[in-house]
Amino acid sequence: MIHIDPRTVILLAGVMSGFMAIIVFALKRSYPPTIKGMGDWAMSLLMVSVGSILAFGFGTLPDGVSVILPRLLLPLGLFWAYVGTQRFFGIQPRFWPWVVLITAVLLVQIWFTHIEPSYHARLVLSASVAVGLFLAFVNLIRKQGLTSFARVLIAGVMVCMLAILVMRLVTSFFLPVGASILDTSPQHLVYVTSFSFLIVLLSVGFVLLAAERLHTEVAYLASHDSLTNALTRRHMNDVCARELVRSQRNGQSMALLVMDLDHFKAVNDTYGHQRGDQVLVDFVNKVNGLLRRPDQLARFGGEEFVALLPETSLPEALCVAERIREACALDGPGPRCTVSVGVTTNLTANDSVDSLMARADAAMYRAKVLGRNRVEGP
Ligand code: GH3
Ligand code: MG
Ligand code: MG
Repeated sequence: MIHIDPRTVILLAGVMSGFMAIIVFALKRSYPPTIKGMGDWAMSLLMVSVGSILAFGFGTLPDGVSVILPRLLLPLGLFWAYVGTQRFFGIQPRFWPWVVLITAVLLVQIWFTHIEPSYHARLVLSASVAVGLFLAFVNLIRKQGLTSFARVLIAGVMVCMLAILVMRLVTSFFLPVGASILDTSPQHLVYVTSFSFLIVLLSVGFVLLAAERLHTEVAYLASHDSLTNALTRRHMNDVCARELVRSQRNGQSMALLVMDLDHFKAVNDTYGHQRGDQVLVDFVNKVNGLLRRPDQLARFGGEEFVALLPETSLPEALCVAERIREACALDGPGPRCTVSVGVTTNLTANDSVDSLMARADAAMYRAKVLGRNRVEGP
């Protein structure tokens, strides 16, 4: 017969949660502040850690410290993890309903500890609160979408915890309930042991969730220009290469527009570098407003941009280029800056991204030579 000592399991859960709290807190310090909720997750793990270690002292420490405090810290820790996850997903947490609920439950816990001691009543109460919190948690993750391993892991852990809690609740009504958290009945051992392991899995889920977000943010930074949010040159080259293969396979033409702002240096010289920057940002917003959804815009250099128009013929691309040129030539508030545009489409099966770029670039230089504020085709 395998013998599991619940006191040791509770101590291990406390120590492991404590280590995980330190890890999540250390990660939070090295992650960008745009990733919210990590401090709350660390705090929640700390509460679970302290709660478990105090519960480990049951029988040695006074009941107020080893029974009441853990029964406050454990649901509070779980609630804090929920708050952190809400913050992570950019949702403003609502505190009052939960604070009222947890306080009310704590008062009833005190009643069933000191006035009318009943371990069963305490167990039913705290398990019911945990069921409510887990249901809210699963619902939160489900609403955000089970789109990644970390989200599936967290939701899976929550569902397991829910199932175990319900099992513990139901069996408490027809099997011996035991007298304390140190009960050695199989149903209690399953409850305590699985909870201890699932807490660790849950914290791994939080770490993975934050790592995924970091990866998304870094990937965005690597593929987008920091000033204008247009794509970077390197990313655009990859996108063009993929689109070229697709268009050659489908027998459709794709178009490239190379755009260079005219006499941009004069804008900087006249209005200053900051206004020049704003002109670049405005240009990108203007062009994005004129492009269709599948079209992509990249900043290739200082004031040079490239647009990729998938499934677009040369006349259509010339039309789009003309619309962009017109929009830039319009008088508006602030410095005005016209644009010269070179347009090309993939003409032959031998076209590569480089040959397309070179042709569009040559067309743009022709537009410059012919007086600027013009659109030139291949
Ligand atoms: P052209 O009509 O022949 O294209 O003339 P131009 O003045 O636009 O071209 P030139 O290449 O002589 O000057 C480009 C200027 O763009 C020079 C540089 O200071 C400015 N520039 C490059 N990057 C940035 C940037 O990020 N912000 C600002 N404000 N200016 C930039
Ligand atoms: Mg220029
Ligand atoms: Mg230039």
